[in-house]
Amino acid sequence: MIISVASGKGGTGKTLVATSLAISLKDGHKVQLLDCDVEEPNDHIFLKPVIDRSETVSVPVPRIDEEKCTYCGICADICAYNAIAVFGRNVLVFPELCHGCGACRYFCPEKAIVEKKRRIGIVESSSSDGIAFVQGKLAVGEAIPIAVIRKVKEYTDSDGIVITDVSPGTSCPVVQSIVGSDFCLLVTEPTPFGFNDLALAVETVRKLNIPCGVVINRFGVGDTKVEEYCVRENIPVLLTIPMDAGIARLYSRGITLAEGMPQWKEIFLELFKKIEDLVNERSRYS
Ligand code: SF4
Ligand code: SF4
Repeated sequence: MIISVASGKGGTGKTLVATSLAISLKDGHKVQLLDCDVEEPNDHIFLKPVIDRSETVSVPVPRIDEEKCTYCGICADICAYNAIAVFGRNVLVFPELCHGCGACRYFCPEKAIVEKKRRIGIVESSSSDGIAFVQGKLAVGEAIPIAVIRKVKEYTDSDGIVITDVSPGTSCPVVQSIVGSDFCLLVTEPTPFGFNDLALAVETVRKLNIPCGVVINRFGVGDTKVEEYCVRENIPVLLTIPMDAGIARLYSRGITLAEGMPQWKEIFLELFKKIEDLVNERSRYS
């Protein structure tokens, strides 16, 4: 089963939930944690894995063979990312904008485009301490996380339970991360910002036809709009985590709830059971 842990906005406690769920499940299950938040991967702060494998992620960017090029401009017209431009008898390639889609090479009538690899990040993995851990890291200054996320997801071992930590927001990296999941856990907080961004996140997962449930973190600090919204939209609130100085202290020290407050381990196991029931119920009726 693949469970994505996402949030419409940053700082809601998504990492705390993803890592606590993984730690709680590891004794009785085969568990894999994929950190797809490749611009700011921080699950490792909680899990402290010993990284034993590292793989470079590259994208193929075009290089122009000036001997063959006729400066027809087709490559520039075809590029959806404005990564290639033709001015008179000059072809300019902007590697930072190139997504490596290969369209320019495919459509070049003169076969004047070859590709060279450009490194944009790495994927690291570890199998220590009962959790198979994989994280992507987008290189500093790079703007194309999709290829790194795709590479992280190639490690998916759906024989067991896969927990995918997704970047905040609702943009392409989020869609790339959660697509293929059996369930999406949306972590939010009871504030106007949390409510607004949760509604956007729900819209995204519904478009992908992925069932979802909500975790309300810092429960008790704000208003009741998130709960009212969930009732209205028929979205189950599967867990509430109170605003608590002890939990905040654990978080600041990089300790999961399941380890720092062992009573939470049982609560996260119950959360998993609820998710499992919802996924099974859906598969019965689909
Ligand atoms: S499509 Fe090919 S031939 Fe035309 S400008 Fe681009 S590289 Fe040159
Ligand atoms: S590979 Fe794709 S994104 Fe890159 S320059 Fe060519 S068409 Fe544009």
